[in-house]
Amino acid sequence: MVRHPEAPPSDLEERLKFLKEIGADFIFKTKRPPAARATVEPSAVRVIAAPPEHAEPLGPPARDIASVHEEILRCRKCPLAEGRTRAVPGEGNLAAELMFVGEGPGADEDAQGRPFVGRAGQLLTKIIAAMTYDRKDVFITNVVKCRPPSNRVPHREEVEVCTAFLLEQIRSIRPKVIVTLGKSATDFFLPETFGGMTSIRGNFYGWHGMQIMPTFHPSYLVRNEGNKAIKKMVWDDMQKVMALLGRK
Ligand code: URA
Repeated sequence: MVRHPEAPPSDLEERLKFLKEIGADFIFKTKRPPAARATVEPSAVRVIAAPPEHAEPLGPPARDIASVHEEILRCRKCPLAEGRTRAVPGEGNLAAELMFVGEGPGADEDAQGRPFVGRAGQLLTKIIAAMTYDRKDVFITNVVKCRPPSNRVPHREEVEVCTAFLLEQIRSIRPKVIVTLGKSATDFFLPETFGGMTSIRGNFYGWHGMQIMPTFHPSYLVRNEGNKAIKKMVWDDMQKVMALLGRK
């Protein structure tokens, strides 16, 4: 069927466009070079067992997630509240099997009160679509809920103050998989895992009965736009998540 030139692109078209953009365009080629294969073999999916301190399941939520989000909007427990326009609790499906956790709101998120809506966020939305999900199917949030000044990395004390909010969101939503975007989010879940993102990413780490998948932050992809190798690594990681969640 020929699409009317002014018709909006279909989901499939968006997905194919994104796959091309992230360098997964070998998917379209009938003869693909062996090195470009992106199909995830079960043997490539490494699951690293939780250490004893992360083995116990998380307890039930202490309260309703709506009241947690209201408290985040009012919170003034750390200096980040001084500089924010709006706190950003997070958004999405409150029973999501898949959660994405970033570092903290940037300028666009601070202005709109929504997570990942700037350039990096638009890329994350495409990644989610390429994984056959919609943004509203997953839950998206950050380690800190208020924008750090000039987008600096949040300080340890700021993360500590915000920890209770993120843990309460996870207790309530109970995702099967949490994708940690970049170092701040990965450090929150796996502080004992030494090494840079390059060595940590791409494996599942057991965490209180859930699976953590660390990958590069979408703003790192935006900053390295022409680097297909990084895009491919993220896409490989996301395919492992899809395989674990039965989306392939
Ligand atoms: N970067 C993040 O870590 N989170 C956002 O919400 C936006 C950009």
